[in-house]
Amino acid sequence: MYCSACGAENSDNSYRCDSCGAVLVRTVDQGGSGNVHYDPEGLGPAPDRLAFSIVVTMLCCWPFGIPAIVYAAKAMSANGQRDYMQAHEMTKKASTWCWVAFCVGCAVWGSYGLFIVLMMVVGAAGAAGAAGAP
Ligand SMILES: [Zn+2]
Repeated sequence: MYCSACGAENSDNSYRCDSCGAVLVRTVDQGGSGNVHYDPEGLGPAPDRLAFSIVVTMLCCWPFGIPAIVYAAKAMSANGQRDYMQAHEMTKKASTWCWVAFCVGCAVWGSYGLFIVLMMVVGAAGAAGAAGAP
């Protein structure tokens, strides 16, 4: 990548410019001038929903989390290609699937918890009944 202050070329993972010491800002454009490219609509890169979608997939409900991850990954690759319209579209879909997974996950875990409590109550009542029987 190129330093935005002096234009010197630096390795992609360096934090400061070797030439002038300016903090390097990583831009979407890795292959070219190092300038930030703005899309005509002014959207900018779409937010990254990948971490959120992975968390809901693991903790909540994977059948709904998988499409969230797929759309989040598509959004990231669209960001990389500076196709921000597409990136925002994909992020929107990823967010929707994240919330679906999250809500379904809450409902499933909630009813599972309720079922456990119910079983414990029934089990305790059954044990009490058995102990009381002659
Ligand atoms: Zn520099």
